[in-house]
Amino acid sequence: MINVTLWFEDSSLGAAQMEVYPNGMHTVIAEFLAKNQDIRCRCFTMNGQPLTEQGLNETDVLIWYGHLHHRQVDDRLVDLCWKRVLEGMGLIAPHSAHFAKLFIKLMGTTCQLSYRVDSGCEREMLWVVNPAHPIAQGIGEGFIIPREEVYREFHDIPEPEELVFISSFPGGEVFRSGCCWRRGAGRIFYFRPGHETCPTWHHPQVQRVMINAVRWAAPTGTMAFEAGPRGRDDLRQSIDPKRQGVVGDSHPLCDVLYPKS
Ligand code: ZN
Repeated sequence: MINVTLWFEDSSLGAAQMEVYPNGMHTVIAEFLAKNQDIRCRCFTMNGQPLTEQGLNETDVLIWYGHLHHRQVDDRLVDLCWKRVLEGMGLIAPHSAHFAKLFIKLMGTTCQLSYRVDSGCEREMLWVVNPAHPIAQGIGEGFIIPREEVYREFHDIPEPEELVFISSFPGGEVFRSGCCWRRGAGRIFYFRPGHETCPTWHHPQVQRVMINAVRWAAPTGTMAFEAGPRGRDDLRQSIDPKRQGVVGDSHPLCDVLYPKS
């Protein structure tokens, strides 16, 4: 069973969004994901039930959607999510989550991008550029979203370790729309579509991509190693089971990951 946590902004997204998603985008996403027997979903929103460390510890894959309120997100929550990704929790960052504190922290770049301001939404063609990739299964050569917000390159992200989709728009814009990275033991997928006033989350191929991405991002192992100077007999010494899956005290990031309270 894959435990998925959805974190969404639920405030100030306005009447246009309410028209397309009367109960919020997260509700639509949680519903189509939960139709799969191997996926269980829980939703958290900025103004609702807070996402806690315990909630994150019970999370295999986090879907993080933000747009207007990235700045208001508590840095302590960002740090907890970041630590969990390094430990193996998957992260899916759709659309405007490119600017979420968590995504920027994991990428190490500004994550700024170019977008079109003279039009609202236009037709998006998503081309599969990695047909054997698990996230592209069942998608074929690509698909069209009739109406989406226009993003274009350059997007200031690290070179994707795997690129799954490229988008094109009627104005000639192109964009790397399905990007994969690993950070620590965690897998990260950025997926470009998902503007809050477009009915994108009802699109069957978008839903297929998200289901594939959840399965791809689910943890496959833990980081069971001890960093630092070792003797030649290290491999014969047993590792304290309590420390398995965590970073050792001598690791330069130890104090960041596990602050002394
Ligand atoms: Zn948008």
